[in-house]
Amino acid sequence: MPDPVPYLDLKAQQRPIRAELDAAIARTLDNCSFCLGPDVAQFEKDFAAFCNAQHCVAMNSGTSALHIAMLLLGVGPGDEVITTPYTFIATSWAISYCGAKPVYVDIEDSTFNLDPKLVERAITPRTKAVLPVHLYGQPCDLDPLLAICCKHKIPLVEDAAQAHSAKYKGRSIGTFGEISCFSFYPAKNLGAAGEGGALVTNNAAFAARARALREHGSTKRYHHDEIGFNYRMEGIQGAVLDMKLKHLANWQAGRRRVAKRYHELLAGTPLRLPIEPDYAESAWHLYTVRHARRDELKAHLDANGIGNAVHYPMPLHLQKAYANLGHKPGDFPNAEKASREVLSLPMFAELTDEQLQRVAGVVQEFFTKA
Ligand SMILES: *Cc1c(COP(=O)(O)O)cnc(C)c1O
Repeated sequence: MPDPVPYLDLKAQQRPIRAELDAAIARTLDNCSFCLGPDVAQFEKDFAAFCNAQHCVAMNSGTSALHIAMLLLGVGPGDEVITTPYTFIATSWAISYCGAKPVYVDIEDSTFNLDPKLVERAITPRTKAVLPVHLYGQPCDLDPLLAICCKHKIPLVEDAAQAHSAKYKGRSIGTFGEISCFSFYPAKNLGAAGEGGALVTNNAAFAARARALREHGSTKRYHHDEIGFNYRMEGIQGAVLDMKLKHLANWQAGRRRVAKRYHELLAGTPLRLPIEPDYAESAWHLYTVRHARRDELKAHLDANGIGNAVHYPMPLHLQKAYANLGHKPGDFPNAEKASREVLSLPMFAELTDEQLQRVAGVVQEFFTKA
């Protein structure tokens, strides 16, 4: 059998930058600033500039950044936050951690993102925020969402955990809403050597309070203004991320090449391929195709050594953890249909053309032998 094609090859990313990574980590070891410190501060400065934003507050995960974002907006018990049922569950956790209720709105069939046409009718006097996700790196249609938020004076928070480098109408993701939240989980487009996340905003008061909240609610040591958290980013992660940020544009070019090549190679198959609407420049976090016989196709790829994954097999409204919301199958048909049909193919900047042709060949074989 030919060499397997991994779904994600972090070693291939690390190989050419290993010396730089070692040096970055050694610098943190030398200065012993293990929690926050100068390396994290430098990364915050550089990542804010990368997003064309004024402030970046680095944290220990994207989930923590989302949680703090909800707190900054005053989300609390009895409140509602409008969001998508079709995402990684951390988006909803942030709402639940505040004692508020996630109010789901179905996704667009074409983009997997929150459908702006359905958002307005979900607004109630308790709606405290709208929390869309740029799923798979594809920016959601922000203008209509922002128009609704503006009309009802409700803040918008972007879950940009999968969308570093994505652009909406030519402008970088990160400053469209009041707050944007990023994750630096190792598999994300910009990944730490461990956990990491950040909150980005142009609101100085939000940034200042976020800095306090991530550090036990204190601005002065051992003086605590409100109940806080230990959500600090580690020094080593700041050093690694700042170093890797310099390579991100290069990696993004690689992901675009891979996506373009998949489009060409898979155009003649019965698969539904991801689209990139006119308003969007996707970060291509994932390359996710659709087909009604997804499970059989998945088994065929597995049997032939082609890495793949299902993002996501169960929408959030049907998760056991959210049984208390009282949803049932059929409530969000587009999300449910997507969960039955999606399959993510190998996607990372270092994929070779040979590997891409092999993936396409195995996919084509599935449809011809069937
Ligand atoms: C990864 C991810 C998160 C959570 O980020 P962590 O850093 O893993 O806590 C939140 N939302 C989405 C859409 C994600 O993909």
